[in-house]
Amino acid sequence: MFLPVILCDLDAAFLGFELLRRPELAHRPVIVGGTVERRGVVATASYEARAFGVTSGMSTAEALSRCKGAILVPVDIPYYRTMSERFRSVVTRGIAIWEPVALDEVYLDLGGQRSAFPDTLALARSLQRTVQEELGLSCSVGCASGRHLAKMACEHRGKPGGIGVITAEEAPAFIAPLPVGALPGVGPGTVKTLERYGVRTCRDLAELSETTARRCLGQRGTLLRQLASGIDPSRPQPPGPARSMSVEETFPKDLSTPAEVHSALVRLSWELGSRLGSLGCSPREVAVRWRTADFRDHSRQHTLPYALQTRIDLRKAVLSLWSEAAVHRPIRLLGISAGRLESSTTPLLPDAHLEQTIRELEANGADLRPASLL
Ligand SMILES: [Mg+2]
Repeated sequence: MFLPVILCDLDAAFLGFELLRRPELAHRPVIVGGTVERRGVVATASYEARAFGVTSGMSTAEALSRCKGAILVPVDIPYYRTMSERFRSVVTRGIAIWEPVALDEVYLDLGGQRSAFPDTLALARSLQRTVQEELGLSCSVGCASGRHLAKMACEHRGKPGGIGVITAEEAPAFIAPLPVGALPGVGPGTVKTLERYGVRTCRDLAELSETTARRCLGQRGTLLRQLASGIDPSRPQPPGPARSMSVEETFPKDLSTPAEVHSALVRLSWELGSRLGSLGCSPREVAVRWRTADFRDHSRQHTLPYALQTRIDLRKAVLSLWSEAAVHRPIRLLGISAGRLESSTTPLLPDAHLEQTIRELEANGADLRPASLL
């Protein structure tokens, strides 16, 4: 039996990190999230708060109205990053290939060395114990033959605080009856698309012809169909250079005029541009993401034939994406992201004179719509 991939996933990570420095909050209804004034959402909540119907992603205002006595702890990403680094360094000792995902998950690739069934399980147990002893944190573990199956083993059989295993032999039977939404990376959009083809369960997807799967979901269709049949050749990908970078902002009050949205997009573009510049890379893909006042998420993206050269170019690309989107609704959140990053000898140069001039004009309240920049 061959189980070369292990996923270690911290349980309610942000809450766990907070309890380490504020043990007095243990066994109380705690919500870690953004503040009501900033119109934040719940990142995670303790079981005591969940009992009142509080869930991740809910607005903090609603969460506090459901659970009146809850203690709100603001999200502190810099502190969580430090803790996440410690978690990674503990679980990756002696492991050559590993992939961190978000702040609370690490996939380990045991390759051919220690991947026979009993060895993988013994390692999983010892990782869990070490994380508890050295960091005081609880984690769930998934063991499988591939990266996606390890995620499912952890979700369905490991959480919370346990070890889930899906062997290659039992994978097809385990996956078949699950709804397609249970496959890693399959969101509501894909579920809807598949429904139009009469596909609801993984069995339906596995039985779809290769051609139909491709017509329905493109190249991803082939991979998902394979996974739905219980075959998962995916392995952890060690972190390479950054592949994308994004910035976003939730506004204290919905942005309701084009001028307000414009100035927010410009501000975010500068911020992303200077972060990309300091990293020494230029993007070939730009995306704008927004959430309207009714909590609906939308996005629009553009792939360029060459990497952007200057921050003015980035800003132009962002503003033209936005004007194409023609949104006329109040905006709650705006984000922009840069993808397909290429390292560049002229990483998003600031266009010194032009940038200075534009900043001054804007500081004086000038309305610089995209057309006036071209
Ligand atoms: Mg987690």
